[in-house]
Amino acid sequence: MAMTTNSFRADLHCHTTASDGSESAETVMQLAKQAGLSALSITDHDTVAAYETAIPAAQQHGILLLPGIEFSTILQGTSVHILGYGFRLDHPAILSLCAKHAERRKNRNLAMLERLDRLGMSLNYEDLTNAIPVELASIGRSIGRPHIAFALVKKGYVETLQAAFEQYIGEGRPCFVQGDSFSVDETIDVIHQAKGIAVIAHPHLIKKTELLNELLKKNFDGIECFYGKFPGAAYERWLKIAKYKNWLVTGGSDFHGKAKPNQQLGCSWIGQEPFQAILDSLPKHS
Ligand code: AMP
Ligand code: ZN
Ligand code: FE
Ligand code: FE
Repeated sequence: MAMTTNSFRADLHCHTTASDGSESAETVMQLAKQAGLSALSITDHDTVAAYETAIPAAQQHGILLLPGIEFSTILQGTSVHILGYGFRLDHPAILSLCAKHAERRKNRNLAMLERLDRLGMSLNYEDLTNAIPVELASIGRSIGRPHIAFALVKKGYVETLQAAFEQYIGEGRPCFVQGDSFSVDETIDVIHQAKGIAVIAHPHLIKKTELLNELLKKNFDGIECFYGKFPGAAYERWLKIAKYKNWLVTGGSDFHGKAKPNQQLGCSWIGQEPFQAILDSLPKHS
């Protein structure tokens, strides 16, 4: 049997109970160890709250932890996710953008609850914060549509999370509210100010060609070529783009625990070479 020269694997996209994952940062770190991962980035939506517990847990398990986040932005009226890596976790520009997103989410969740209420589905804000079990203090947690979907199922208003999105809270559905929007450019700027790199998340999910084309003109440093359960040749197209643009190649599972049971931690990853390229690129921003 041919020995693989290197068993290094880095999963650079996963969520914890600090946003819409079902597992705590400590549990995610245990799962990373079990999955044989060498490096991990926790990329919660619009928050870095998980890092307080993730940093000691990573040290305990000997996992290399790369600072990460997944910011929500809007381009051409459509939601676009941007991954940030390697930035300073306590940089004021990052913390300020996270605080603005927390305010956006609160207003938007209340507006969505109001719309659901009008259709006879009444939920309290506590139903959302309790929807995904957490030990973490609620400060700094990003609450959003997955929490609403869980709560709707729990209350018996819909049967599945998917049905909640399809009937009520998916983009364009009657109870969907976008809320304040943050642009791609300002989000990339914030990540750069905090000495990090900005990466297009899961381009595989972008359906509109014009949107992708506009995104490819932006000041990104990398693109998430390997994503979730997308098989085989699905990444070739993105690797070609990365090469053409001279962008970094990233990848990860987008693990959410029970919220996305088909995407196990480590189901998508990058090897040592692209991971080292990310680390090597970081000082350029300092
Ligand atoms: P939010 O940030 O509150 O807008 O919620 C966005 C998250 O909801 C995404 O990251 C997905 O994890 C999840 N999501 C979006 N659309 C769907 C869908 N159709 N079914 C299940 N989950 C979804
Ligand atoms: Zn999510
Ligand atoms: Fe995403
Ligand atoms: Fe994600």
